[in-house]
Amino acid sequence: MQTPQDILQHVFGYHQFRGQQETIVNTLIGGHDALVLMPTGGGKSLCYQIPALARPGTGIVVSPLIALMQDQVTALRELGVRAGFLNSTLAWPDVQDTERALLNGELDLLYIAPERLIQTRTLDLLHQAELALFAIDEAHCVAQWGHDFRADYLRLDLLHNEFPQVPRVALTATADMRTREEIIERLQLQEAQQFIVGFDRPNIQYRIQQKDNPRRQLLSFLKDEYPQQAGIVYCLSRKKVEQTAEWLSGEGFNALPYHAGLSPRLRETNQSRFLREDGVVMVATIAFGMGIDKPDVRFVAHLDLPKSIEAYYQETGRAGRDGQPATALLLYGLEDVVKLRQMMSTSEGNEQFKRGEQQRLNAMLGLCELTSCRRQVLLRYFGDQLDEPCGNCDTCLTPPQTWDATEAVRKALSCVYRTGQRFGVTHIVDVLRGSGNEKVITQGHNQLSTYGIGKELTVDEWKAVLRQLVAAGYLDVDAEGFGGLQLTESCRPILRGEQRVNLRRDIRTRKPTARAARRPDADIAEVDRPLWEALRACRRRLAEEHGVPPYVIFHDVTLRDMLEQRPHTATELLAVSGVGDSKLERFGADFLEVIQDFSALAS
Ligand code: ADP
Ligand code: ZN
Repeated sequence: MQTPQDILQHVFGYHQFRGQQETIVNTLIGGHDALVLMPTGGGKSLCYQIPALARPGTGIVVSPLIALMQDQVTALRELGVRAGFLNSTLAWPDVQDTERALLNGELDLLYIAPERLIQTRTLDLLHQAELALFAIDEAHCVAQWGHDFRADYLRLDLLHNEFPQVPRVALTATADMRTREEIIERLQLQEAQQFIVGFDRPNIQYRIQQKDNPRRQLLSFLKDEYPQQAGIVYCLSRKKVEQTAEWLSGEGFNALPYHAGLSPRLRETNQSRFLREDGVVMVATIAFGMGIDKPDVRFVAHLDLPKSIEAYYQETGRAGRDGQPATALLLYGLEDVVKLRQMMSTSEGNEQFKRGEQQRLNAMLGLCELTSCRRQVLLRYFGDQLDEPCGNCDTCLTPPQTWDATEAVRKALSCVYRTGQRFGVTHIVDVLRGSGNEKVITQGHNQLSTYGIGKELTVDEWKAVLRQLVAAGYLDVDAEGFGGLQLTESCRPILRGEQRVNLRRDIRTRKPTARAARRPDADIAEVDRPLWEALRACRRRLAEEHGVPPYVIFHDVTLRDMLEQRPHTATELLAVSGVGDSKLERFGADFLEVIQDFSALAS
């Protein structure tokens, strides 16, 4: 049997295990179960791939991501790993070939969709084969109230009963306690050793900006910071996805739409272009993303507010899997709060469910209105701790000002009260500022004691006050759909003058971190650039020849390491991170030639 270290080196071309990878690998090799919670990009795949190679028999990987299985298998085959998959997209002769290979012990790894795995036919097949382990990927899909729930996952407890001798590992990047407990219970992993890895993604810069002109804000973000880079723009509705994609295309971006209303074929085409082409901006609903393991997504931008911190963290987590700098930008405004609050009050589900939704939204709003380090709060939410402010979020980089808004808040609350708790933000602001518009007059609101008592603040400043009052739960939005503001119980102490309120002063600068336009390879020295470009061109050519995305040939990290080490021999090339035996054999000569040509030129 090969040792895990040998496999890491020769198959994957890496020199060291990361974090707890080695312990997890040894746990599984030893025949024990494991639960692995690791952030996106943390390196979960090696945790089951290496034991599957080290143990006799085939490792079975359960994954809901049918669309990605082909790519995952292709990437493994480039590493010289004998991999296959079984799902509904596979033609019958291919199914037969794969099944035969399994029974003949010719597969190291077999990916199976959950609905397929639980069929009697598949279980019979597995009983005849030698199995190394079961890996249950995206294990949070068992969580019934979670956003990725899959009913078939609930049946996976049968693995425990049918194959008690085969070690099982469940893996997820979803961090919260409740999901963790649900995974353990539903998959019967009570005996499993738990590996909970810190959830920080230090290379992602978190930014939450007040929406003022979202299109202009997005455009300047893309143009100034990420021209021609791959990224995801999330929108709430299908219509907005299509409009935004069209508009970005008109602005010269390679932008594509993705949502559940598009035909499966178009979705697949767009997803595959996102993976294969350079610099595609995917404009999508949350239907897009689970398991997209493209390593070089440079940004995730939200044009609408996510419903919970869990969703926000998972969606932003798709940026920067390769560990290089990436940005998560969220544009957020009063209308988002109103819209989401209304959606929740009209949503299906029992009271307990609604209350849960409400609490999750409140936590998300709290994050938006925060005046201290965002990362500290995010990590604390997942039970993790960061002792010092991170220095890589907008509130750390440009600390927001706060002001004593007690007087303004009291004026606003009284005005909501005096107008009968039926009117929306615009009208309340009109009354406060003493506007003479028609609605104010016809309602007789120019007669109220609160009419014109708030001329000292601008319209935008008043909106910021009201937004923060809604976010903090002092004001409610009526469920009937007109956005009428209502007082809540928690207003009392403020109105009685017993409580003071500090609010955040909105930052209106367009670019809070004032960074120059940059590319992810901006730090590569001028003299190295020609070789860098040549290495990339070589990768692009090989990717086209093999019909795979460029990163399946080599990741950027590997090309950078080549640039630094300038290997001239096969042995030297093996020392580069990400170059294993199989890739050396397949691509080594091509890259060595490129490097050779450049040294010849230089000397
Ligand atoms: P996850 O599934 O947890 O999101 P992956 O398994 O896709 O993460 O790994 C993320 C990236 O880190 C991949 O590019 C992978 O090749 C790389 N990686 C994982 N483990 C190591 C390691 N020990 N050394 C170097 N790179 C690693
Ligand atoms: Zn911070």
